[in-house]
Amino acid sequence: MCDLCRELDYKIEACRRLENSTNDELTREAVADLIREYEEDKAKLHPNQSGEASRG
Ligand SMILES: [Zn+2]
Repeated sequence: MCDLCRELDYKIEACRRLENSTNDELTREAVADLIREYEEDKAKLHPNQSGEASRG
């Protein structure tokens, strides 16, 4: 975990709250997309922490 991860976690948490606080389907989809992007960014920050054994 680093500052960037914490920032992304903060954004993800804010998105999840927003997602849970609305019943608007378009908003929920947009927020879900954002969460996916943030999580991908997090995974890219620490590619060696995925727990998956390296292949090849
Ligand atoms: Zn980090």
